[in-house]
Amino acid sequence: MQPDILIIGSGMGGATLAASLAPSGRRIVILERGERLQDCPEARDPAAIFRRAFFKPKEVWKDAQGRSFEPGNYAFVGGNTKFYGAVLLRYRAEDFRPLRHIEGTTPGWPIPYEALEPYYSRAETLYRVRGDAGSGDPTEPPHSAPYPFAPIPDEPDIAALRAAFAAQGLHPVPLPIGLDIDAWLKRAPTTWDAFPCTTGAKSDAESCGLAEALKHPNVTLLTGAKVTRLLAEGRKVTGVEVERNGTREVMTAPLVCLSAGAVMSSALLLASANAEHPNGLANGSDQVGRNFMNHNLTGMVAWNPFRRNRTVYEKTIQVNDWYLTGGPEGEPLGNIQMLGRITGPILAGEAGLPLWLARHIADHSIHIMAMSEDLPDPDSRVLWRDGVVLDGRRTNTRAHDLLVARLKRAMKRAGWPVVMARGFPKSKPSHQCGTARMGADPETSVVDANLKAHDLDNLYIVDASVLPTSAAVNPSLTIAALALRAGAHIGGLQ
Ligand SMILES: Cc1cc2nc3c(=O)[nH]c(=O)nc-3n(C[C@H](O)[C@H](O)[C@H](O)COP(=O)(O)OP(=O)(O)OC[C@H]3O[C@@H](n4cnc5c(N)ncnc54)[C@H](O)[C@@H]3O)c2cc1C
Repeated sequence: MQPDILIIGSGMGGATLAASLAPSGRRIVILERGERLQDCPEARDPAAIFRRAFFKPKEVWKDAQGRSFEPGNYAFVGGNTKFYGAVLLRYRAEDFRPLRHIEGTTPGWPIPYEALEPYYSRAETLYRVRGDAGSGDPTEPPHSAPYPFAPIPDEPDIAALRAAFAAQGLHPVPLPIGLDIDAWLKRAPTTWDAFPCTTGAKSDAESCGLAEALKHPNVTLLTGAKVTRLLAEGRKVTGVEVERNGTREVMTAPLVCLSAGAVMSSALLLASANAEHPNGLANGSDQVGRNFMNHNLTGMVAWNPFRRNRTVYEKTIQVNDWYLTGGPEGEPLGNIQMLGRITGPILAGEAGLPLWLARHIADHSIHIMAMSEDLPDPDSRVLWRDGVVLDGRRTNTRAHDLLVARLKRAMKRAGWPVVMARGFPKSKPSHQCGTARMGADPETSVVDANLKAHDLDNLYIVDASVLPTSAAVNPSLTIAALALRAGAHIGGLQ
């Protein structure tokens, strides 16, 4: 039976869109290249994850210099959310307007915060977010509904850090997290960031969006179904080439939604070039692949040989005092949030230290992260040359350096005198976004405010690629809210 809607990808964008469209009764087929992640000892084994890269797909991309690398992305049902830190933060209201940063002004969104707000609330319900909108965060945008659950409690060492930050005049507040902490800890006492969930404790795209969608008999998930190309004639996508079980077939539907993630969605559009669309599909603006963003991220290990860190998960607080200000002329610097407990095997894997030394440092340190906005740059881009080429360029590094310096100072004042900091490598595009941006003008953007491609009448792009700006908060909740909004729009079409 021919589907009404094909959704390519079952990550945050695709699964949430499917959940939104499922009650419409339309026949929906989700094409996902990965399989469901099965429980196994490695799922909670830091050495398997961080040293042996057990779950990483055998995938190779190239950088701008032609050097091959294995990206830190995952290909399972649920996409990258299977491994995510489940921080489900809203963009701030100011992020939707042009914002002056040290190295440039952001373009602003085609919709204001208020247009997305109801969908943020729905996304927080769907993804069972634990948070507190009234906690005194100076940047918290208005919420029309409270979080469905109270925040995950701080462990004592994090409560002490929270008090030490507050004593400095900062405003540490709970991180909104999609996780049932008791259910998570039942499987094993680890943090959850970068650990895959196999029990449904983490609110990921598989356990929430997809599970909701698959309650409806009109929704089908096909796993191991890798889309290699979209076919198009004129203003219409006419088919989707799929490799599955060693065979290749063309599937068709009146509506196609591309949700393969910011790098893969743009790569697919570029790889689908044909005589009528020589620059790739949906690319009349020449913006497909451009404006690739990935946040400026620095992880810190703040060490005190005379203190012990007794935490299991750590990841419960954030600080936004420098989110909208702090630069030399009051420019934004970014968000600060706990990393998630770094243990000896994790530090050994990430920093290449001997395990005994890594264990000692990890157990006498606190682990925190600075995150700054990456600004859209047309030269920062994904290209297709018989494979993915990622020419990602960092922007706004001055603001990030200032944020890192402020956080280091705050950690030292909080009683952690030695702070080791390291930027996340370019090979880990975990917060990738922006390669098919939304906008009102078809000359400068790829999709409109409903996420429909300007150039194609039956193609929607529903994932991180449509974000016009990266802001300085984790992207998933915004992707989910946009997917719910796009679903409401598509659901209303005849
Ligand atoms: C370790 C880690 C921690 C993170 N922590 C956070 C966090 O705490 N909070 C947060 O907001 N974000 C976090 N992120 C980022 C978050 O996971 C992504 O922003 C989000 O998953 C992006 O959603 P998406 O729909 O764009 O893509 P994805 O969720 O990656 O989904 C894309 C899907 O498309 C599938 N696909 C790709 N190509 C094809 C193809 N050709 N054919 C068929 N299927 C295909 C993929 O397998 C995948 O399932 C983290 C990411 C990582 C890696």
